[in-house]
Amino acid sequence: MHNLPIRCIIAAKYVNVNNMRRLIIPCVWLLCLLLLNPFLLRSEPNPRRKKAPKRIIFLIGDGMGLAQISGVMVNDPKQNAFERFPVIGLSKTASADNYVTDSGAGATVFAIGKKAKNGAIGVDSSEQPHRSIFEWAKQSNWGTGLVVTSSITHATPASFYAHVPSRKMEEEIATFLLQQHCDIAIGGGQKFFTERKDQRNLFAELSQLGFTCKQDSVLVQTDAAKLIYTLAPNGLKTMQAGRGDVLLKGTALAQKNLSKHYQKSFLMVEGSQIDWGGHDNDYAYVQAELVDFNEVLNAVLDWAMADKNTLVVVTADHETGGLSLLENKENLGSFKPHFSTKGHTGIMVPVFAYGPGSEAFAGIYENTEIFEKFAQIIKRNGTTQRAR
Ligand SMILES: [Zn+2]
Repeated sequence: MHNLPIRCIIAAKYVNVNNMRRLIIPCVWLLCLLLLNPFLLRSEPNPRRKKAPKRIIFLIGDGMGLAQISGVMVNDPKQNAFERFPVIGLSKTASADNYVTDSGAGATVFAIGKKAKNGAIGVDSSEQPHRSIFEWAKQSNWGTGLVVTSSITHATPASFYAHVPSRKMEEEIATFLLQQHCDIAIGGGQKFFTERKDQRNLFAELSQLGFTCKQDSVLVQTDAAKLIYTLAPNGLKTMQAGRGDVLLKGTALAQKNLSKHYQKSFLMVEGSQIDWGGHDNDYAYVQAELVDFNEVLNAVLDWAMADKNTLVVVTADHETGGLSLLENKENLGSFKPHFSTKGHTGIMVPVFAYGPGSEAFAGIYENTEIFEKFAQIIKRNGTTQRAR
């Protein structure tokens, strides 16, 4: 007698549980499908969890203003790489002591995030050294590299690994590579390593630290994780004098070796001589150098698009020559290039960005911000071990 109500209760519970199972099981399956379906996940990305890039390639067209880009690219039959960038910004270029910066202060601000006096390398306006973006990167186990068509001790590349009050101290600048904040350097400048006033042979000293040091006139492949490669006693040849695709091949070599030996990397590439053509007020020189730089940009964008984990940023330290494109009355579809100075100018320069993190480079900002944006990425994405 006592068992009947108990059996009824049990039966009632059993029925309820079965009903609930019928509801719960399909719900669980639906939830699993929603959570595991990558297409659905991709279709609604969480904006607070943006992917940080594993590789940064920062390309500087020294002296490359909007007039240089507008003028040269309109006549280049090849693909205009600048048009492939989805994010565009403008950078204000004044230095600490001059509205019109030089390349020392112009690159120092990218490297350390502080305005410097013209001519300074890797130090602030009080000549105090600050950790460079290469040093931040190395501390977080990133690989670092630079490829230039000047000497590797010239103002722009020097700013990323050296700290001296004057860009003219190229022998002193070369010694900073012994601190190993730059893993790969490709460009000119071997005389600052092997024909020094102090008689030191820096290639021998760097070799003892594990660097492969090469001095050839032609770039050949090497697998080195730590590489100093000079291709001329000082700056490289001009494109007009037959430099060829050294910047493209050097960039490919640095990118390949950084990718192979380091899980994360920061590579700086400079089209150094766009500036030199501007100083000479030689439009054909500017044109040849910028066409070369454009080839490198296209190649870098191709890698970045395939890799999907590379941030590409392109800008200039300043404009050179005060170039303007004047009306050509003989050919209204063309223009007359006109330089207004043999020096630099203070006009804002464009910034082009592609890849994860690129959205931060939109807008108008001081050139100090470019360092800050890179530093944020390295801070967010920095503590992995070196790959072997
Ligand atoms: Zn210059």
